[in-house]
Amino acid sequence: MDPKFIPYGRQQLEPDDIEAVIDVLRSDWLTTGPQVERFEAMLAETAGTDYAVSVSNGTAALHTAMHAIGIGEGDEIIVPPLTFAATVNAVLYQGGTPVFADVDPQTLLIDPASVESRITARTRAIVAVDYAGQPCDYDTLRQIASHHGLYLISDACHSLGAAWRGKPCGSLADLTVFSFHPVKPITSGEGGAIVTGDEVLARRMRTFRNHGITTDHGQRAKTGSWHYDMVELGFNYRLTDIQCALGISQLAKLPEFIGHRRRIARNYDEAFAPSPRIQPLGVHPEARHGYHLYVVRVPERDRIFGALRQAAIGANVHYIPVHLHPYYRQRFGTGEGLCPIAEAAYAEILSLPIFPGLSVADQNRVIDTLHEAVGKEKP
Ligand SMILES: *Cc1c(COP(=O)(O)O)cnc(C)c1O
Repeated sequence: MDPKFIPYGRQQLEPDDIEAVIDVLRSDWLTTGPQVERFEAMLAETAGTDYAVSVSNGTAALHTAMHAIGIGEGDEIIVPPLTFAATVNAVLYQGGTPVFADVDPQTLLIDPASVESRITARTRAIVAVDYAGQPCDYDTLRQIASHHGLYLISDACHSLGAAWRGKPCGSLADLTVFSFHPVKPITSGEGGAIVTGDEVLARRMRTFRNHGITTDHGQRAKTGSWHYDMVELGFNYRLTDIQCALGISQLAKLPEFIGHRRRIARNYDEAFAPSPRIQPLGVHPEARHGYHLYVVRVPERDRIFGALRQAAIGANVHYIPVHLHPYYRQRFGTGEGLCPIAEAAYAEILSLPIFPGLSVADQNRVIDTLHEAVGKEKP
């Protein structure tokens, strides 16, 4: 790889993170041991709620959440289109039907008015995605969900450490899903979790991630019993102690990581303020943004994307609206016109590099290259 290349996101690992992993490799438990319990307790506390269930990745977390609320054939789940495909795929794993609601033109977060217009007698849940790390309007979504008797699920894969009206992501929905992939706010290599205040849902999720068996290996080791009951069809979605040790070490640094991301975002905001052709997304005054992504809208996005890549800057596009993917078009007959605001935004959005270790010099190179690229008129 070009040593000058600046990715849009990357992990921040330090010697103590590495030590934490090595310590586990020297211990008795590589999986389903004490690090899992510690990581879950820390996560629940960070998220401002009671229970955390770790799983092997964010996609498994979404699947586990859909199973926990009993999604099945014929159930409709309202989802936003500007998200990673996994958000919507998880609905399909359980046999549910995704129904796409459009987004707000300023923030690109799911629009509560559009959500309301999509509700039918078959609707069971709303999935809110905290796109780019900005929490959705959970007050309004909560009201809609309660009024119609729906579950509110938060896909907070971008927003661990962010908050809405002072309440942390993780405490705002019935179930909240996190991912610990290397580009996300903290990493465990691969990893994910669901947090909730509901003890019954938490128990169901622990069983589901462990083949549908009601006790795990650690619990049986403590009681000395060989007996276990498999009560439903589950999966092996467990997260290892090796990964949880990394997660614990990283989670302690979350406030520092978010601080770096917010500082980098402020620098971009200031640099682009004088340029009408570079428009950062809107931020709600009640949102404490986690800045997993820094997204701008630009004219001639594809040309500008090319110019940045030419300069070894790993800009990216988040996301191709899920309903425009060939699989969704063929299976559900979705296509252009279903979510016009998301589709129009998709033509203009560009994610710029943002991660805790991004240097001032590298950020300045991104800013200068973007200004120059945008300034050029079409040949
Ligand atoms: C990363 C991500 C996921 C999936 O998480 P994995 O850990 O990669 O499986 C789901 N939803 C959103 C919004 C994400 O960004």
